[in-house]
Amino acid sequence: ANQNLFVALRNAFPSDQDAIAVETDDGLRYSWRDLDRATAMVANLLQSLDIPASKDGVPPRVAVQVEKSVEAMVLYLATLRAGFVFLPLNTAYQSGEIEYFIGNAQPAVVVCSSRNFPWVSQIAFKAGTRHVFTLDDNRSGSLLERAAHCSDQQTPVERRADDLAAILYTSGTTGRSKGAMLSHGNLLSNAVMLKDYWGWQLGDVLIHALPIFHVHGLFVAIHGALLNGSKMLWHGKFDPKRVIADMPRATVFMGVPTLYVRMLAEPALTKAQAAHMRLFISGSAPLLIETFNAWRERTGQTILERYGMSETIMLTSNPYRADERYAGQDERRGGTVGFPLPGVQVRVQGDDGLNLPAGEIGGVQVAGPNVFAGYWQMPEKTQEEFTADGFFKTGDVGKQDECGYVTIVGRSKDLIISGGYNVYPAEIEGYLNDMPGVAESALVGVPHPDFGEVGVAVVIPKAGAQLDGDALLAALKSQLANFKIPKRCFITQELPRNTMGKVQKNLLRDTYKSLFA
Ligand code: ATP
Ligand code: MG
Repeated sequence: ANQNLFVALRNAFPSDQDAIAVETDDGLRYSWRDLDRATAMVANLLQSLDIPASKDGVPPRVAVQVEKSVEAMVLYLATLRAGFVFLPLNTAYQSGEIEYFIGNAQPAVVVCSSRNFPWVSQIAFKAGTRHVFTLDDNRSGSLLERAAHCSDQQTPVERRADDLAAILYTSGTTGRSKGAMLSHGNLLSNAVMLKDYWGWQLGDVLIHALPIFHVHGLFVAIHGALLNGSKMLWHGKFDPKRVIADMPRATVFMGVPTLYVRMLAEPALTKAQAAHMRLFISGSAPLLIETFNAWRERTGQTILERYGMSETIMLTSNPYRADERYAGQDERRGGTVGFPLPGVQVRVQGDDGLNLPAGEIGGVQVAGPNVFAGYWQMPEKTQEEFTADGFFKTGDVGKQDECGYVTIVGRSKDLIISGGYNVYPAEIEGYLNDMPGVAESALVGVPHPDFGEVGVAVVIPKAGAQLDGDALLAALKSQLANFKIPKRCFITQELPRNTMGKVQKNLLRDTYKSLFA
């Protein structure tokens, strides 16, 4: 049978094709039939371009940098349908970044906003791309104009489970972004498993308020809703007030931690307002325990935190209901990312390549049908990141406790080795965040002549709070061993973040690198 992911998604469309599949925040409604016809038309357009087969046998790439819209989602689904490879790009990327991605991926087709067309098309044509279309968030642009002339019937192109479906560039938090090659089978196996693990049910309605150039919004959210035949309430941009207003007619919401923080700042967020919601999911970055607790107090609902990445889609999750494999545990534990998902193998290894017992901190490694085939055009990097027995080294450092719960304590690149002792930034940050007046903190290692490396803390005060770095360090000393105490503590107004909102510790390290040199 055809293992094209699109086929599985379309097979899950409800039998009532006139039911509403997507409703946008500016009042547009799309039926399931609309999605089927629109994806057929765009797929026909892509196939009509007569793109010659490439020498390496990889299907043509479609690189897309457009504002969020339902049509952008249609383009994603149409790309699958045509058997091409989807390559989404962050809307914040400027010419330097676009030049790198287009040069690296060699897409046959580029789709951009009409505003960016002058410079994006120039970069694309220079890189040898022959087809550049525009697509705007108001249903206009040359892509749709051309697709309007195509038939709304199309047979999805035959694909095997291990054929490439998408290249997702990582967020570039720890260095240059790498293109993770994901297959139809990677994406489908993960989506099917999550449908069950998160208890998707008849009548579910998803509030979709995430960007769609990243795993979370593009795969976890969209596949989840489509595979369940569920309606999406589509928010072009995240607006906390609008999301809260939609809660009484929805059941599922997915967000990154900052979205939860921003909703908590709204008085409209109450128990009654959230009462119709079945499930709040958080991921992409660590959810502070304060946010987890505040949400429970305010709404009476417990956020389910899960963990994943571009290379593997979802890896672990707190339970939706009792997980038989872990002694029937059904608790969503704040500060943890839950259990390895069914079919996903997770292990924690030390530097010596041996598995560590429960509770001990080491490198998190994974294997399973969800794990990517490798980095696009980076065979050496790919080889480095896989173990001899086929596990992917996530680059995250963590532990798994006796009950099975996994906790991520940071990234291996952020680990600090001070005087021969390992210092895990997340632990020290946790203590700092608990101190009065502290909103957030980040700990980074910088070179030091005696200790090799020492920790430097950067602390963001809560609005109106006056903080003193030395006083914070003095308070830490009574709580933690001396080797864990940062040597300096700076109070600043903001942490450097990438476009996904993740703290860029490499920039902080750079700022403070000469402090002790
Ligand atoms: P790059 O690999 O380019 O440095 P990145 O790792 O940030 O960037 P992504 O693939 O978008 O790129 O993000 C995956 C990472 O996000 C994970 O490796 C992990 O560090 C972090 N992450 C995701 N979910 C969670 C979570 N629930 N808790 C803690 N960290 C998380
Ligand atoms: Mg990464």
